Amino acid sequence: MSDDILMKAAFKASNRSDDLHTKVGAVILCESLDTCTANNFYVGDDSKKEERQDRPLKYAFTTHAEEGAIMGSFRMGHDLKDGKMFVTHIPCPTCARLIAQSGIARVVCAMQRTSTSDVDEPITRAILSECDVEFVEHEKPLG
Ligand SMILES: [Zn+2]
Repeated sequence: MSDDILMKAAFKASNRSDDLHTKVGAVILCESLDTCTANNFYVGDDSKKEERQDRPLKYAFTTHAEEGAIMGSFRMGHDLKDGKMFVTHIPCPTCARLIAQSGIARVVCAMQRTSTSDVDEPITRAILSECDVEFVEHEKPLG
C-alpha cells in the first residue's frame, strides 16, 4: 500500500471523530501488513459528552487517534516493531513517547498544525528524532 492510500485512510478515519473542533485520524501498518485505524474520540459517559466538548476539560476525556491506533493494534496482538503510522496531524509529545515506545519506526504526517501547539511541535520532533523514529511530512492527499 502506498503512503498516499494510507494517508487517505487516516483522513477518512478522522471524519469519524466525535470531537467538534479537532478531527484526527491515524493508521498503523504493521510488519504483518495488517492495518489498524483510529480517530480521536471521547471516552466515558455519552450523556456527558456535550459538557466535555470544550477545553480544557475535553483534554481529560479524549483519546488521541495515535493512542487509539496503538492500543487497538496491541489488542489485536500485533507487534508494532518497525511499523509505520500515518496521521493527519502532528502528534503531541505524549503520543510521540507512546509511538517511540511501541516500536513504530516511521511516522508519516500530514502537515496540519491544529492539534498541537507551536511549543509542542519541536518537542514531538525531538522525541521522535532522539528515539530513531523517522518523521516524514506528507501533503494532504486530494480527494
Ligand atoms: Zn496525542
